[in-house]
Amino acid sequence: MIAPATRFRRGFAHGIHPHEHKVLTAGLPTQRMPFVDRYVLPLNQHLGVPAKPLVTPGQRVRRGQRIAAPGAFVSTSLHSPVTGWVRTIGHHRYPGGQFSKAIEIEADPYATQRLDGEPPPDWRTLSPDDFVTALQDSGIVGLGGAALPAHVKYSLREGIKIEYLIANGAECEPYLTNDHRVMVERADRLLRGIEILRTRLGGTAEAIIGIERNKPDAIAILNRQLRPDRPVRVVPLRVKYPQGDSKMMIKSLLGLEVPAGLHAADLGIIMNNVSTIAAIADWFDTGMPYIDRMVTVSGPGIERPSNLIVPLGTPVREVLRYCGGLSDDTREVLMGGPMMGTPIASLDAPIIKSSSGILAFTAGETARPREYPCIRCGRCLEACPYFLNPSRLARLAKARMYGEMKHIQIMECVECGSCTYACPSGIPIIQLIRTAKRALRGQR
Ligand code: SF4
Ligand code: SF4
Repeated sequence: MIAPATRFRRGFAHGIHPHEHKVLTAGLPTQRMPFVDRYVLPLNQHLGVPAKPLVTPGQRVRRGQRIAAPGAFVSTSLHSPVTGWVRTIGHHRYPGGQFSKAIEIEADPYATQRLDGEPPPDWRTLSPDDFVTALQDSGIVGLGGAALPAHVKYSLREGIKIEYLIANGAECEPYLTNDHRVMVERADRLLRGIEILRTRLGGTAEAIIGIERNKPDAIAILNRQLRPDRPVRVVPLRVKYPQGDSKMMIKSLLGLEVPAGLHAADLGIIMNNVSTIAAIADWFDTGMPYIDRMVTVSGPGIERPSNLIVPLGTPVREVLRYCGGLSDDTREVLMGGPMMGTPIASLDAPIIKSSSGILAFTAGETARPREYPCIRCGRCLEACPYFLNPSRLARLAKARMYGEMKHIQIMECVECGSCTYACPSGIPIIQLIRTAKRALRGQR
């Protein structure tokens, strides 16, 4: 039995309060980035099995045309972001630096770039399996983080009844404001997506939009658009990192713990990021597959911070150029937020489905703190929202005692970075944990 509404809480234990830095872009209306000459679309830009190409070099493709099919159930389709020609299918740099197989498309400079794909499937009449397949065809992934194909959560085990549909609008990472702008500028699309999903779940699930209180305009706009035929609640939440982590959001909204090894659906809950839900509405209402990504371009190294709609596959270099370029003292460019994002190895790498942000930092922000021995202050334990023992994990990782780390639940670590942020000794706890997790996965 799920907790009744009277037990709703507004927070979770532990966590941190990093400086937000959202003011740079929070009030900026989203602009559409112009089309460029060349696009690179990795086949593995989602969690799971890479997509399989459906096109060949030299082939003409239309904007919105499916160019790769799902490689397995946990996989999704890929669509062309422009009308043009397939140039190559080969290995290209991924944002993290590794090479991965990708479809390269050259845009047709004379094409109108109008979307003229297939009409959308009628979501009301689809069988449950066909609805999941239709969602898989859209190419939409979870846009809040790991890029899990969106259909996976809607393939429910027999007997599972969903009581809560949660729209995650926390966007707790510093600097990022693209979900915020979606809630402000596309509130109707978000509410329409909730209506579609709630209807498909049987029409009885309670819909809740969880938003941190630092987005008062989004909270006000969404509240204004609620009507009796839109049974949705907007719940303001404390500003705290990592509020957007799904387990923390569930804890804050419902007061429930999702036990290790279980999924939210096992407790009757489905959660999607707000941008994911708006994209689902676009797909079922207009047939618009997932070909454009909302990206926050920000940080002290960016000349003109912006929120942009960027076609997938656009080189990061072009996005930065559109925003006025990088300042001379830029030292590092990240993809994603500063807490969980990854350094971009090459500016020729493309925007992918999970590229929530491009952030540029100067020498002042990227200087690594000098590392001192652990003083056993316990601040990392107080910061960890998963109640792990980060200092012990770091000690064991340094000694390469990876087997022992399994016994103290290293795999439960979501790599939120709160422990590293809190550590006064400058110990790179998160990097040590990541290395250990990689080693353990390799052993497996
Ligand atoms: S141990 Fe993992 S989950 Fe805990 S604070 Fe550190 S990074 Fe976050
Ligand atoms: S916060 Fe840093 S110094 Fe303090 S106990 Fe944790 S690892 Fe040690």
